[in-house]
Amino acid sequence: MGKLAKWLRMMGYDSLFFDGSDDSHMVARALAEGRVLLTRDTEIMKRRVINSGRLKAVLINSEEPEQQMRQLMDTLNLNRHFRPFTLCLECNQPLVERSREEVKDRVPPYVYKTQTQYMECPVCHRIYWRGTHWQRMTRKMEKFASRNNDSKD
Ligand SMILES: [Zn+2]
Repeated sequence: MGKLAKWLRMMGYDSLFFDGSDDSHMVARALAEGRVLLTRDTEIMKRRVINSGRLKAVLINSEEPEQQMRQLMDTLNLNRHFRPFTLCLECNQPLVERSREEVKDRVPPYVYKTQTQYMECPVCHRIYWRGTHWQRMTRKMEKFASRNNDSKD
């Protein structure tokens, strides 16, 4: 589920990850912030707050992140709000745009030479750019999204 949270952030979805040590806290926070709860735990799904429909929750069927992503695409219609490159993958914070000059001394020289668009996390100060890893992930996400736009097979 930790990997799923990162993928969701990569697509621009505000996602919090809980380690499962305090389910009540997780449920309360989801309720307070109007979040959708994603869980692999069938016990949580039995809670009254979820059964009654007060808190929207999705029971994730697979352990495999790609399958999890597909399930979410289908059940939550995620592609409508696909905004990649907007959230920190580690902190879930909205990224801030940075100019090439601003990050010059903070990214590897080959990155500075080849990349023109940069984003910074205001919390952990990681710099993001659209490198090969990011491009690969985005292509994968777009594939999920377009699959969902097509008629369901
Ligand atoms: Zn961060």
